Amino acid sequence: MKTDVLVIGSGIAGLSFALKTARALPKATVTVICKGKEAETNTRLAQGGIAVVVDTVNDSFEKHIYDTLSAGDGLCNTKVVEFVTREGPARLEELVRYGAQFDRTADKMLDLAKEGGHSLHRVVHAGDFTGLEIQQTLLAQVTNTPNILVLTETIAIDLITEKDLHTTKHSGKKNKCFGAYVLDQKTNKIVKIAAKITMLASGGVGQVYKHTTNSAIATGDGIAMAHRAGAKIKNMAYVQFHPTALYEKNKDANFLISEAVRGYGGILRNSRGIAFMGNYDSRKDLATRDIVARAITSELGKSGDDHVFLDCRQIPKADFIKHFPTIYKKCKRIGINPRATMIPVVPSAHYCCGGISTDPNGETSVTNLYACGENSYTGLHGANRLASNSLLEALVFSHRAFKNSVKKIKTQPYKKNIPNLLLSKDRQPQTKAIHRAVVSLKETMSANSGITTSYKQLNKAILLLKDLQTKTPRRQGEAIHARTLELNNMIDTGLLILKDAKRLKKNRGVFYNTDLESGKQAGISAENLHELRSHSKNKTKSNTITL
Ligand SMILES: Cc1cc2nc3c(=O)[nH]c(=O)nc-3n(C[C@H](O)[C@H](O)[C@H](O)COP(=O)(O)OP(=O)(O)OC[C@H]3O[C@@H](n4cnc5c(N)ncnc54)[C@H](O)[C@@H]3O)c2cc1C
Repeated sequence: MKTDVLVIGSGIAGLSFALKTARALPKATVTVICKGKEAETNTRLAQGGIAVVVDTVNDSFEKHIYDTLSAGDGLCNTKVVEFVTREGPARLEELVRYGAQFDRTADKMLDLAKEGGHSLHRVVHAGDFTGLEIQQTLLAQVTNTPNILVLTETIAIDLITEKDLHTTKHSGKKNKCFGAYVLDQKTNKIVKIAAKITMLASGGVGQVYKHTTNSAIATGDGIAMAHRAGAKIKNMAYVQFHPTALYEKNKDANFLISEAVRGYGGILRNSRGIAFMGNYDSRKDLATRDIVARAITSELGKSGDDHVFLDCRQIPKADFIKHFPTIYKKCKRIGINPRATMIPVVPSAHYCCGGISTDPNGETSVTNLYACGENSYTGLHGANRLASNSLLEALVFSHRAFKNSVKKIKTQPYKKNIPNLLLSKDRQPQTKAIHRAVVSLKETMSANSGITTSYKQLNKAILLLKDLQTKTPRRQGEAIHARTLELNNMIDTGLLILKDAKRLKKNRGVFYNTDLESGKQAGISAENLHELRSHSKNKTKSNTITL
């Protein structure tokens, strides 16, 4: 199969990129693949919203930049933080033009919520189902764009690259991407898709852990594929745990209780009813996620409990239902009335701040391979993502990648004579063995590389994962099955996280090795501040949004 542009992923990043490219080049073919249904994404699950400076009276780009750098704990790329923040309003306007409906105040202004780490109300949202609203809006637009083909239940196996084809003498310097081998899960056929440009927008890695808020699709496939193709991967050790996933006994916690609930007055309490966050940070319940997640872990360590509570009893019922309808419904379904009973919560793997390293245009270190969204590392999040900055990042970088790739799509030839992927098809997948291996992987990662870690734990986990890797069939010459492919990718991703963690000599943001000096959070580094001052010179508060 041939397509001008291959997009791997149907979340906010992939669909935004596909839409813009297809509309700018109506004669080009754009193919979006996803391994489940179109809307099985982390995007669909986003509750809180998108952080954008739209309040021209109280807010400013400088404040948003400051909050992002502060959360990132000295590891953000200041230039990236600046342009992402400043380009946010224009990208949000596009979403509104596509038809996304966000909550508004009585005077028709966008209603802004507050989340941890933000110095003021800045988060544009649609109730507590912002992601669903965005996902549906983008899918509706994609359906109306004739030159986009969406292939569901189609899992990418590996990228097709120069290094693998050996068609030319590969210099070992810069690899080149020509598309991807994919498995059509409906027919069990392998298809090679030749593309001039390939965009990896395959989402996060949460499924590598036992407890996660992420969708089942978040198995790190894009990062693992890019790594196998020799792309630079960065900062994988910085996995953010969301402090408040709903705790349900004997279940891997996964339903998110949005940070916006704490922004609206929810208070964390331990089993003795004590509001403990004041003992950990002056911002109390609205400290950044890393601090809150570690505070909860510390409370649980002291009490031996398996969860703490989020007390929302002081939030009027009508307000709770209005602002958090999805959370209210979920609580009711499991017999919790938030007005009368505290909600049991536990930290859960939520967001990978690292990923495939890109430049400011979303280009990776492999020629003709782009990455954006959660599988990328752009420099925005540093050591800790500020709440609601990831949807923003996906919008800004998909736009920049689109702008950058248009010329290439027009001029680039297809790669000819791509060989078939040799795989035997006659073996049945060993479903039970795969399931056991996945459980073992998740337990190893959670026990040894969670909210805190140590060198001993990291070494132990690396050995266990390598052992699992030797026992797991690689794709070549083995029966091919989506779950086996995912397992391989999860092992590769787990190893990338562990090895990156071993390399770190300092605790920052979401990373905490108990063998390293604890120290206080660095917050904004002197370097960040200096860069910020020089970039911001002559830049006034230029918010011209017309939303
Ligand atoms: C519960 C929850 C709440 C969140 N709330 C917020 C919030 O309020 N604000 C915010 O900014 N961020 C939030 N986030 C984070 C944010 O939702 C994600 O970072 C973002 O949506 C990721 O978008 P994406 O397009 O990169 O990936 P996704 O939306 O996850 O899409 C990934 C796509 O890749 C496809 N895919 C994966 N592997 C393969 C493969 N091998 N072959 C083919 N296709 C593949 C999947 O099928 C899917 O279509 C939240 C995340 C979660 C889990």
